[in-house]
Amino acid sequence: MHAMVLKQLGRPLEWTELPDRWPGPGEVRVQVGACGVCRTDLHVVDGELPRPQVPIIPGHEIIGRIDAIGVHADGFTLGQRVGIPWLGHTCGVCPYCRMQRENLCDTPIFTGYTRDGGFATSVIADARFVFSVGEVGSDESLAPLLCAGLIGWRSLKMAGDGQLLGLYGFGAAAHILAQVAKSEGRKVFAFTRPGDGKAQEFARSVGACWAGGSDEAPPQLLDTAIVFAPVGALIPPALKAVRKGGKVVCAGIHMSDIPSFPYDLLWNERQILSVANLTRQDGLDFLDQVPNLNLVIRTTAYPLQQANQALADLRSGSFEGAAVLVP
Ligand SMILES: [Zn+2]
Ligand SMILES: [Zn+2]
Repeated sequence: MHAMVLKQLGRPLEWTELPDRWPGPGEVRVQVGACGVCRTDLHVVDGELPRPQVPIIPGHEIIGRIDAIGVHADGFTLGQRVGIPWLGHTCGVCPYCRMQRENLCDTPIFTGYTRDGGFATSVIADARFVFSVGEVGSDESLAPLLCAGLIGWRSLKMAGDGQLLGLYGFGAAAHILAQVAKSEGRKVFAFTRPGDGKAQEFARSVGACWAGGSDEAPPQLLDTAIVFAPVGALIPPALKAVRKGGKVVCAGIHMSDIPSFPYDLLWNERQILSVANLTRQDGLDFLDQVPNLNLVIRTTAYPLQQANQALADLRSGSFEGAAVLVP
């Protein structure tokens, strides 16, 4: 097998040949068809997440086909198309796992961060954390659903059922979530980098009823704002944009510091909360909905060997939608 391996934090990934592995008990091996590139991969490469581990193969939005099944990995067949998400393993016994909040597990393993991920031709996963994804849609268009889609979905659930929804940072996750929210009858207000007319037009093209810069106020107060951009300075304006009792949901795994702000912005029972990871139930619920949503997933494909270019383009925001690596 081949992979783009992070050997040193902050350094480019290196194209590497590795020995083929056989799945262990409870594991499956998947030939990768496509793997999305997520902002979290940038945080992994930059060493911004706690207890970084190298060498590691990043990538946690994996679509592929099973080509080997370990003992006790029940419920899968050779050739079956599956998705592998960020959540790679949970302990099953800690208080969070026992209260159906496995996304907060005390000793989790994450794909592409603490176990090898999908920037590769082949990947091995714990079968219990692998989703069947059926045969509708291309590998490339499904890959971003495995994190951008799923985290967006969990964020939307945390946001509650407010009708007026603001999305700060209009990348892979927001462009999927805007469509999901619209299909539920919500109104989406998109906030981009100030002056980014192209991103604002993109937001309107996937269903936003209003799009503007993050320094602008929306035309009416919002019920909820979800902040996808890893920019703590967006929290005060997002609080200002929501009504009394409204919520600001932080959807990223890492964010720059939140500046101090007057208590007035939080007063009147506004809430700030964060969304961490996903549960397998989130995956099942979301992927179950996908065939009915007629999502249009905007992707830019890169050959696997150009993973560094894809990461650089994500960092500079030079494409709309999601980057996807294709082996
Ligand atoms: Zn646990
Ligand atoms: Zn991700």
